[in-house]
Amino acid sequence: MLVVKIGGAEGLDYCAIADDAAALIQQGERLVIVHGGSALTNQVATALGHPPQFVTSVSGYSSRRTDRRTLEIFEMVYCGQVNKGWVERLQQRGVDALGLSGVDGRLWQGTRKAAITIIDERGKRRVVRDDLTGRVEQVNLALLEGLLAGGYTPVITPPAISFDGEAINVDGDRAAAVTAVALRAPTLIILSNVPGLLEHFPDEASLIRHIPAQRLDAFMAVAQDRMKKKVMGASEALAGGVRRVVFADGRVGQPLQRALRGEGTVIGEL
Ligand code: ADP
Repeated sequence: MLVVKIGGAEGLDYCAIADDAAALIQQGERLVIVHGGSALTNQVATALGHPPQFVTSVSGYSSRRTDRRTLEIFEMVYCGQVNKGWVERLQQRGVDALGLSGVDGRLWQGTRKAAITIIDERGKRRVVRDDLTGRVEQVNLALLEGLLAGGYTPVITPPAISFDGEAINVDGDRAAAVTAVALRAPTLIILSNVPGLLEHFPDEASLIRHIPAQRLDAFMAVAQDRMKKKVMGASEALAGGVRRVVFADGRVGQPLQRALRGEGTVIGEL
C-alpha cells in the first residue's frame, strides 16, 4: 500500500508520474493518489476576476483565503480539470482510476474552523469568520477499501467535508498524511517541484537526504512558507504509524521508483 501526493505547483512531469504509477500498479502495488491544483486554481481565479489571496496565520502558516466564490473556483479546478486529468492519464495507461473529492461519500471529514486569526498587510491581527477551511480528522476507510477491493485506484482531491456537511478547503499534504495513516500505509511519497527539503532554499545542492523521525521538529525552521505544511504532514504521518515519508522530485523520470529507492528527503526509516 502506497500513498502518493502529487503537488499542484508548476513544473511536475505529469506523464512521467502517470507512467511510473501505472508501472507500480502493474507490479502489484496498491496505490492511493492525492493531488493538488494550486497553480491552475490561481490562473483560473485570476481569469474569472477573483484573484487568489493568501493569509498568514499567527503561527506563521500561509494558506489560501477561501470565501464561497474561491471555494467554487477551487472545486471547478481541483475536482474538475485536475482530477479528471489524472484519471484520464491513468486510464490511458491501463489503470482503472476513479476520481473523487473528500466531499464524496464523506471520504474526508473534519471540523470547519469557526474563525481564523491572521496577520493582515499592516502586520495587525484580524479575525476572519467566513473562511471555508479546516483539517481532515476522519477518513472513510470503508469506502477506500471497497474501491481498492474492486480493483480501482482512488484519485482523491480536496475539498473535504465538515461534520456539518459543508465543503471545506484542506491542505492536501496533511490530508494525504491522514489518509496514509488510515490505510496503514508504510510509505507516503510527496512529489513537488523541488528535489526535497532544501537546507538553503532554493539551492538544490543543499538537499537534506535523511531526517530521523525524532529530529523532524528541528527541521521545521528550515522549511519556509508552503513547505511548512509538508513537514507538518510528515510529522503527523509518522506519529500515526507511517514508517517513511519521502519528499521527492516530481519533475524527473520514474519519480516514484526513485523515491522508493530513497532519492529525495527520506523522513523516518531509511
Ligand atoms: P505543492 O503544490 O507541490 O504541494 P508547494 O508549492 O505548496 O507544493 O510547496 C513546495 C514549495 O515549497 C517549493 O516549490 C518551494 O518554493 C517551497 N519551499 C520553501 N522552503 C523550502 C525548502 N526549505 N525546501 C524546499 N522547498 C521549499
